[in-house]
Amino acid sequence: MTQQEFIERENRYGAHNYHPLPVVLEKGEGIYVYDIDGKKYFDFLSAYSAVNQGHCHPKILSALHTQAQRLTLTSRAFYNDVLGEWAEYVTRYFGYDKVLPMNTGAEADETALKLCRKWAYKVKGIAENKAKIIVCDGNFHGRTITIISLSNDPESYGDYGPFTPGFVRIPYNDIPALEEALKDGDVAGFLLEPIQGEAGVFVPDDGYLRKAYELCKKNNVLFIADEVQTGIGRTGKLLACDYEDVRPDILVLGKALGGGVIPVSCVLADDEIMLTIKPGEHGSTFGGYLLAGRVSMAALQVIKDEALTENAFRLGEIFRSRIKAIDSDMVELVRGKGLLNAVVIKPKGGKTAWDVCLALRDNGLLAKPTHQHIIRFAPPLVINEQELLDAVAIIEKTLKLM
Ligand code: PLP
Repeated sequence: MTQQEFIERENRYGAHNYHPLPVVLEKGEGIYVYDIDGKKYFDFLSAYSAVNQGHCHPKILSALHTQAQRLTLTSRAFYNDVLGEWAEYVTRYFGYDKVLPMNTGAEADETALKLCRKWAYKVKGIAENKAKIIVCDGNFHGRTITIISLSNDPESYGDYGPFTPGFVRIPYNDIPALEEALKDGDVAGFLLEPIQGEAGVFVPDDGYLRKAYELCKKNNVLFIADEVQTGIGRTGKLLACDYEDVRPDILVLGKALGGGVIPVSCVLADDEIMLTIKPGEHGSTFGGYLLAGRVSMAALQVIKDEALTENAFRLGEIFRSRIKAIDSDMVELVRGKGLLNAVVIKPKGGKTAWDVCLALRDNGLLAKPTHQHIIRFAPPLVINEQELLDAVAIIEKTLKLM
């Protein structure tokens, strides 16, 4: 079958809820993916930062294979010999009392919202059904009905109402707006991405996270960080909140927690918060299953063993400085932290970010526009300096020929 035939079959039988770049992939290794004709590409999306450890990492696959031959799923109706080990590993790794496992980022965010509301009623003492959670303009936390109820992007929420009440949206990176919103005594939490990934890699001002955290503390409000995309080394620190020494009250992780192999997400918090949810009050058939536990421990160990966080920090600086130096009037702005970066494209002669991504594909590098004019560049963190420079050369050549 040709690539076109693969694409047509997917379009014929699959729902049209995505608009993929036309390339049909069949193999991956480290920072590279290969299409069905054997052409090799730099992967500069990393499955939206789920593949921080690189494609098909041998240690992660080995954990998967070994566990798959013993026992994969018991559900949480019984104990198993992996979940406790995983929970101990993850809580020590990130420094929290407890962890609650889920599968996808959206589910983990839903869990964080439920947990925050429980805490509001059981600990803070907010009157029944009155709790509010502050969220930010431009947020992206996933696709469930409640989560799109927080969104101000019509593409996300349009025609999906009625929406879940109980949320107050304020501008991102705006401390006075947060101060104002916190005056309401029914506020229980503030949910934010420390860098807004899907919105186009919006990095808030230095000091914003710290100040927001302090305001939350002052008002007895939980600071909830969605680090599903920014977490686990991507931004050059283990967590993006580490840049400002902020320890979220509730930490939400996903994506790279499963090493790009299986979906693993979780919520971390201390006992005062986590133990407000009692047996039977929340759960998931697959959340914390054995295969996920083993894969996730291997995925986190790879981040440490290969110093991927430090690598992301160092190479991120090089990437931004090299891209900024490209002499092209299509590069309007370069921003990001570590290896989570975006280039804002100024359309030229009718050519948009989408056209740039098609040309990058032809030149051997895969990236995807987010919104109209922004291209996110987020390679697996296992990339080395020479490979990064080779990729930058492709980006430079492509932009100059546009
Ligand atoms: N939160 C953030 C910050 C994300 O970037 C995403 C996905 O891009 C999600 C949550 C949703 O994760 P998932 O697609 O696994 O549900």
